[in-house]
Amino acid sequence: MTDMIIEQARKEGRTMLTEIEAKQLLKNAGINAVETRLATSKEQAIATAKELGFPVVMKIASVDVVHKSDAGGVKLGLKTSAAVGKAYDEIMKSITAAFPDAKIDGVSVQKMAKQGIEVIIGMSKDAQFGPVLMFGLGGVLVEILKDVSFRIVPLVKRDAREMIREIKGFPLLQGYRGSEPVDVENLENMVLKVSEFIEKTPEVKELDLNPIFAYKDGAVAVDARVILEAK
Ligand code: ADP
Ligand code: MG
Repeated sequence: MTDMIIEQARKEGRTMLTEIEAKQLLKNAGINAVETRLATSKEQAIATAKELGFPVVMKIASVDVVHKSDAGGVKLGLKTSAAVGKAYDEIMKSITAAFPDAKIDGVSVQKMAKQGIEVIIGMSKDAQFGPVLMFGLGGVLVEILKDVSFRIVPLVKRDAREMIREIKGFPLLQGYRGSEPVDVENLENMVLKVSEFIEKTPEVKELDLNPIFAYKDGAVAVDARVILEAK
């Protein structure tokens, strides 16, 4: 399955996987991601939303649109068929205005995950060290503060434990001002699974799970970006 997805991208001369392909790779690797399906028309988007159950999230599906929400390509909390239809039109309007030449596959329709604490797991390849995993808290504050930690792949359990605990924002994961602590052990396992996946899949050049929603029980990736090595 993973091989087929990579092969398909290669065949199309792409190094960028779609969000749907990226989430499928995660699923195959045992990493929890929100259920996400492609719809190629407004009617199909509505039908898919009904199948998944409201509320849903809809996003532009185009490998030419990397930062989907910046371009008006993400609509959250759609509760009815009418809302899905309207969001479909709005997404297409914004994207065609911002990226007139983008090749658009359609939209992805996905379950609206309940809000959790946003964390990110990333992987990039260092010229000297090879694949390196990054862990951090998600959201704007962290983009500014760059509160992240790094470990070289492959990670062992202890690396995963340490890299999560060494970010400055770790207390946020332990619960603060009455908010519940998140399941840190589950995040450790997720980090380890990403490490295993990267070890087994050298074709992956970059990976970005941003954000992952962390809960008191479990965690789920709601956005995923995978870039393959050019070959
Ligand atoms: P971008 O390409 O802009 O990074 P994302 O897919 O990350 O787009 O979506 C933007 C934001 O919308 C996310 O940071 C997250 O807060 C929220 N979001 C995305 N997908 C979901 C989902 N399935 N359920 C709930 N919230 C979501
Ligand atoms: Mg994102």
